[in-house]
Amino acid sequence: MNIKELLNRLESEYGPRHWESRQDALSVLIETILSQNTSDTNSHRAFNSLLATFGNWETVAHANAEDIAHSIEQGGLSKIKAQRIKNVLEHIHQERGDYSIDFLACLSLPEAKMWLRKMPGVGPKTAGCVLLFGLGMPAMPVDTHVFRVTKRLGLIGSRIPVDQAHDILESLILPEKVYSCHLHLIEHGRRVCRAQNPRCHQCMLVEICAYQISQATPSESTKSQDIKISQSPTG
Ligand code: SF4
Repeated sequence: MNIKELLNRLESEYGPRHWESRQDALSVLIETILSQNTSDTNSHRAFNSLLATFGNWETVAHANAEDIAHSIEQGGLSKIKAQRIKNVLEHIHQERGDYSIDFLACLSLPEAKMWLRKMPGVGPKTAGCVLLFGLGMPAMPVDTHVFRVTKRLGLIGSRIPVDQAHDILESLILPEKVYSCHLHLIEHGRRVCRAQNPRCHQCMLVEICAYQISQATPSESTKSQDIKISQSPTG
């Protein structure tokens, strides 16, 4: 696939998106832990409740897990998430002597990922969210929408597990395009390329989509010749 063509079409449809700092990296990490297995609305409420209750991350680190769980009940799985939050805060303090992880911006992307992944409960998606949203690094968190849409498009193979998809997508997309691409793929997955009954007839990617080409009759599919993935970032 011509990645540049794909990104141009997404940007034409959904508009340009540029990263700007909205939260420090540790806050993104805590909010991402709270977002696991729940809706954005519930995790935002839990995050706001946590900060309203304790005021800052150092106080959260010294609070007991039951009190943390009580303050984040709206986010679901509160006992598990409370312990996870305590564990990462403890780990960060042991490693760094304070509660900031903004230093990760000075590391290479693989080094920063590795540092985050050493923490209990931090997988590739959580690490990617911290680096992309908290620090503006070119990490591609692969959520359910990104995974589904990029598989259908043929950017990643049908048998590739989600944990490997992060690195593959990052290798295909120019670093300065990763942020907007991530947001566009999620928007496209929610609006058009839905899990059930994708709206291919409304999709601006229909001529370059591997899924759509595979559904076409042999005579139709010969019209589409542009489905090989470039191995170098071109987006
Ligand atoms: Fe998804 Fe269909 Fe668009 Fe392909 S053509 S990206 S399967 S909606």
